[in-house]
Order: sequence, then C-alpha cells, then structure tokens
Amino acid sequence: MAGVAPAKINLCLGVGAPRPDGFHSLATVYQAIGLYDEVRVRPASECSVTVSGDARLAVADVPTDSSNIAVRAAGLLAAHHGLDAAVAIHIVKGIPVAGGMAGGSADAAATLVACDALWGTATPFEELAVLAGQLGSDVPFALLGETAVGSGHGELVTPLETQGEYWWAVLESPAGLSTPAVYRELDRLRAGTVAPEPEVPAALLEALRQGDVDGLGAALANDLQPAAFRLRPELERNLTTGRGAAPHGALLSGSGPSCLFLCESPEHAAKVVIALGSAGLESVSVATGPVPGARVVS
Ligand code: ATP
Repeated sequence: MAGVAPAKINLCLGVGAPRPDGFHSLATVYQAIGLYDEVRVRPASECSVTVSGDARLAVADVPTDSSNIAVRAAGLLAAHHGLDAAVAIHIVKGIPVAGGMAGGSADAAATLVACDALWGTATPFEELAVLAGQLGSDVPFALLGETAVGSGHGELVTPLETQGEYWWAVLESPAGLSTPAVYRELDRLRAGTVAPEPEVPAALLEALRQGDVDGLGAALANDLQPAAFRLRPELERNLTTGRGAAPHGALLSGSGPSCLFLCESPEHAAKVVIALGSAGLESVSVATGPVPGARVVS
C-alpha cells in the first residue's frame, strides 16, 4: 500500500512570542504545492524504514531508526486502534529534507493514510487529524492540503476557499536549515522587545479570494526571514537574484532554506528557472498550488 503527501509553503508566516509550552504562536496561510513524498508500507514482523530519492534533496539526512516521523505515525495509528501491527516503510523523497517545506510532516501524513488503508481501519478524517496534531505542527495541514489558515502553533487548520492556480519556482539549497535554530535566532533578534500578536494580512486573504497574483505577491510575508538570513546570508542574496525575474513576489519557505518565487504562468516559471540557473542557482523545481493533501495511491 502507498500514500503520497505534498510539500507545504507558507504564504504568510506571522510568529508571536514563545509560549510557556515552548512553541511560538503562529498565524499562517499554508498552501500545498505539487512536490510529493511517497510512502510505501507493507506488513512486517517489526517496524523498519528505508529512504530513496535524488541525492540533491539530502536524502541521506533522513533518519532510518524509530525517530523517523513515519515510524512514529504508524505506531500511533496502530495504538489508536489497539492493533499489534508493524510495517516496513519505504519513503521516496521528492520534497527537500530540512528545506522548510515540511517533508517529514508529509511523510507522517502519507504513512497515516497508507497504514489506515493497509489495516482496513477506515479512520474518520477528524480522528486522523487529531493523531496528526500529536505528531507535529505541520502534519494536520499535510493531511488536509489545498490552502488553509493555520493557528495555534500551526496545528489548527481551517480550509480557505481560493481562486486560481499559482505557479512557484522553488530554489532548493544544498544544505538544510534547522527549524529550532531559526526560531532561537528570531528570539535572540527580538530580545528586549515585545513580539507582536501574529495576524494573517487581510490583503493576502483578499488576493487569494480573487485569484490575484499581483495582490498575493505584494502580501507575501515571513517573520522568520531575518533570522534565517542571519544564519545563512546567501539566502537573502538568492532571493534578490530571483526577484529580477520574478517581480511578483519572493520569500523564504517557512524556516528556509528553500526560496520561493511566485510566477504568473508555466512559461514565466521556466524563465525564472533559466535566470536563476544563469546566476549559478541550478537546483530549482517548478510546482503549482493548491493541491490536495495526503491520499492513498495504491
Ligand atoms: P520542519 O517540519 O521542522 O519545519 P522542515 O520542513 O524544514 O522541518 P523536514 O524535511 O520535515 O524539514 O525535516 C526536519 C528534520 O526532521 C530533518 O532534519 C530530519 O532529521 C528529521 N526527520 C524525521 N523523519 C523525517 C522524515 N521522514 N523525512 C525527513 N526528515 C525527517
């Protein structure tokens, strides 16, 4: 049995102060885009995980022990149903590892739906979403897909009606960036100030309602960018380079290091890929959004 789940991007990412539980409060709009991980599961006497995919996605950095979030997802679903069931998991990565695109969360969501199908447990979506929230902040959105507002620490998701299809050029980075390290840097940069209560910009919601690419580009926002730029100054330079060809909008995906360039058509996206390539930035994918969340494929 196999499941697939998409990468996520944050069209806006407002980050509040750290909460007593260690999470930061967030106000974000997620969009699922057409880069996918596939998770294959088969019955086994004990859980195991193997990973394959293009080396440029840093596949070797994915853990293959019980810390892999896919293993935790299978175990959580089995426990939820009181099953003593183990699976051999194989992950085919299409989403950059530690790229700020929630690849691990996609694997968890794909594992939940694949194991649910394999075991015939027919878990209602609402129950899967609760389990997803126990696995990680971005996992509920990986199940849901499309476009959604995220609140809490990202785990509370509300679907959003949008119009149109958006084209993204995604510049990958040869080395991942640790999400906790980026949040720590943000807290350091904000030391001595009061973090604002995070909000989703009204202009961004309106642009999505209208299918307005210019309006969306103007409203893109990411509070984590200054912190990520401090840790990896080349990211700011890369965004500036790409903006020449993608003037609608450019921003860091989540905590980075993947960079996103908003394009108006597939032809425009192809031009952005060429412009980045001629500046030596060659690891670029093109993806559209929104796309559905995790689903069973066989
Ligand atoms: P986050 O979801 O924390 O924002 P990210 O989107 O930047 O992270 P991920 O690809 O989800 O990046 O990987 C974050 C870390 O989680 C990796 O460095 C890796 O060590 C660990 N990890 C655990 N399981 C997986 C998995 N199945 N795929 C990728 N990374 C995993």
